[in-house]
Amino acid sequence: MAVPKSKITRSKRNMRRAHDALPRVGANECANCGEMKLPHHVCPACGHYDGREVVEAVETF
Ligand SMILES: [Zn+2]
Repeated sequence: MAVPKSKITRSKRNMRRAHDALPRVGANECANCGEMKLPHHVCPACGHYDGREVVEAVETF
């Protein structure tokens, strides 16, 4: 089994993890109701996509 030759210091470990953060997901305004929604997704508040209602509005949000 391959074994590391020496311990990775806190500094080196943290330097490696400096790039591990996930990017922020952008949000767009729904053209129909103005709620914030994810781009290229059906609006969870009113169920509209591309100017028409494609699914029933869900009240659980
Ligand atoms: Zn909407």
